[in-house]
Amino acid sequence: MTVRRVMGIETEYGISVPGAPGANPMVLSGDVVTTYAASRGIRPAQASWDYADEAPLRDARGFDMGRGAAHPSQLTDIEDPTMANVVLTNGARLYVDHAHPEYSSPEVTTPRDAVVWDKAGELVMREAVHRLATVPPGVNLYKNNTDGKGASYGTHENYLMSRRTPFSRIISQLTPFFVVRQVMCGSGRVGIGVDSRTPGYQLAQRSDFFETEVGLETTLKRPIINTRDEPHAVADLYRRLHVILGDANHCDVANLLKMGTTSLVLAMIEDDAFTTDLSVAAPVRTLQAVSHDPSLQSTIELVDGRSIRPVELLRTYFELATDYVDTTWGSDVDAETTEVLHWWDTVLTALEGDPMDARRWVDWVAKLSVLEGYRERDSLGWGDPRLRAVDIQWSDVRAERGLAHRLAATGRVEVLVTDEEATRAMDAAPEDTRAWFRGACLRKFPESVVAASWDSVVVEVPGERTLQRIPILEPLRGTKAAVGELVEGAPDIRSLLASLAVADRPSD
Ligand code: ATP
Ligand code: MG
Ligand code: MG
Repeated sequence: MTVRRVMGIETEYGISVPGAPGANPMVLSGDVVTTYAASRGIRPAQASWDYADEAPLRDARGFDMGRGAAHPSQLTDIEDPTMANVVLTNGARLYVDHAHPEYSSPEVTTPRDAVVWDKAGELVMREAVHRLATVPPGVNLYKNNTDGKGASYGTHENYLMSRRTPFSRIISQLTPFFVVRQVMCGSGRVGIGVDSRTPGYQLAQRSDFFETEVGLETTLKRPIINTRDEPHAVADLYRRLHVILGDANHCDVANLLKMGTTSLVLAMIEDDAFTTDLSVAAPVRTLQAVSHDPSLQSTIELVDGRSIRPVELLRTYFELATDYVDTTWGSDVDAETTEVLHWWDTVLTALEGDPMDARRWVDWVAKLSVLEGYRERDSLGWGDPRLRAVDIQWSDVRAERGLAHRLAATGRVEVLVTDEEATRAMDAAPEDTRAWFRGACLRKFPESVVAASWDSVVVEVPGERTLQRIPILEPLRGTKAAVGELVEGAPDIRSLLASLAVADRPSD
């Protein structure tokens, strides 16, 4: 395995209503989801996600629930905003989580596609903002991870891993990488401390919110390594590693590196390729210390007694990864891996010199250069509320308001994924995972799909009392190549089910 693996990014968006600070964010988040869903013709019945997995086995009203699926009449109506939860034709999930609208990207297999479908999610939110602008009080959405007043909301990465890999090895070899990864991938933030009480600028949005090294929680006592174990796939074979400490990115290069370098490090962990122990002393405290030093000059302590700068530790990971790729694949290496290694080296080289040289590629540097412009022009100290306002405006999803978008539009930030490509991905699913099958079912048989989840699609066949659950437990099956002809050739849902039954269980 190279950088390619099944992965996906979930992003909770910050939400505010400037004219109505007392507005209920839960209700507004529900509006975001239902407004977008309605604009795409998605029916309320398809607004079930968890129900598909957790439905009672017996239905008091007499429907045959033998397959564990809920009948449409049981599904919760999305008039309750907290239950707003839809599946899009691109295979993504759009729902309300912790009073924020959240877009969970479909499963993809490359870091670049992760960026494509993550950007598609931002366009989904932008579309909802534009539509709600005509419905007072309207709503603003931000692709960031803290409101600057003590609340943080997540951007989670998900990586399919082999169940055989000992979790203790994941903890020990990934933790040091996560402590320093923010130097390349952090999105930058005005203010130090969870509530930004101390004036200053730091590399990452999320680092101050982490309290422990390993744990199950995602919103309290947040851990560097999250032990949540919901594989949404064949549990004996796979683990879905749920990563909660990353920031939402606007810079494509940083986003690509976040997913690509992590996937590569995971490949090395799976192959037991690390020969040296890179453990850092006091990971949580060090995570925060690294975030608080935009000069990148302070050293961190390793458990073996060495003191090195964060960029040096990243360079060590880069060199080990390069050796690993060379010895494992040599010249057979795929283009995606080469692209990730190229950007990894390019960005590290910039950060090793004057960090500001990375302003085209790394969010925290790009944001800092804009903030320094304001600071010089108006002699602003870091505690000035105007700088906090700039920080928030940076991540506004609207093209004309969001500063990150304006920077990209003027060519000052490297764009790897165009708006056209991301716009296409709002409706089109990745072709090389089961997301294709999920999306195709919704596109082709919208009347028949009553529920969908990551690992199944539940359909209703006209005239039949039993709902049919089509399992999609293998993330790399149900691709366009495997089932495209079968789905496109099926005139109705009954024929699709029949051909899936005789085919070599392509979606299973
Ligand atoms: P939350 O953290 O919001 O409580 P969650 O992490 O359980 O929820 P979702 O919001 O439903 O999950 O998002 C799951 C993400 O994981 C999606 O981006 C999806 O593409 C991805 N994903 C689904 N199955 C797998 C898998 N087997 N391996 C890797 N990624 C997966
Ligand atoms: Mg989620
Ligand atoms: Mg999650």
